[in-house]
Amino acid sequence: MLPKNIKATKEELRIHYRSGLSQKKIAEMYGVSQGYIWMTFKRLGLRSHPKGRTPRPWQQRFWNYVDKNGANGCWVWTASRHRFGYGLLVKEQSTTKKRGRHRTAHRLSWELHNGAIPKGLSVLHHCDNPPCVNPAHLFLGTQADNNRDMFAKGRNKIGRRKGNNCTIQIEAA
Ligand SMILES: [Zn+2]
Repeated sequence: MLPKNIKATKEELRIHYRSGLSQKKIAEMYGVSQGYIWMTFKRLGLRSHPKGRTPRPWQQRFWNYVDKNGANGCWVWTASRHRFGYGLLVKEQSTTKKRGRHRTAHRLSWELHNGAIPKGLSVLHHCDNPPCVNPAHLFLGTQADNNRDMFAKGRNKIGRRKGNNCTIQIEAA
C-alpha cells in the first residue's frame, strides 16, 4: 500500500528505483519526505541500494563533493584526496567488487567544463590550491610547466618528503 499523499504508482516507483535515482531525489520529485520514500520502498520490498543498478555518471557525482565558495573563490574538494592534496573521484564506478580507478578531481573538473584534456598535458592551478576544482583557477600546461610551477611555488618538497610509493593509481597531475 502506498501512502495516500504520494501521486505515484508502484510501477513508477519501481522504475525510479531501477534507474538508480536516490531516494532523496525521488522524494523531491513527489514533494514528500525522504522517510516516506524509504517506508514506501520498504513496503514494496525494494532495498535502498539495488544490486546491478546503473552507477551514477561521474558528472553528477562530482558535484556532491564540491564546496563552492563564490564564482571567484576556490571550490574545495570535500571527498578523499591524493597525498599531494588533489581531490580524488572514481570516474567509472564498477558494479563488480573490483574498485574503480581514481582520477584527480581538478582534471575531471577541466573535462567537465572544457572537454577532454589533450594527451600529455597537465591541468595546473593558478591558485596553487591542489584541492581546488574551480574551472576559472585551472589552466593547461605541459609536465615541464607543472614542474616549473611546482618548484616556483615550493610544492616539490612535499613530494620528496613522502617519496614515490603512491598506492592510488592516478594520472599525472
Ligand atoms: Zn582555486
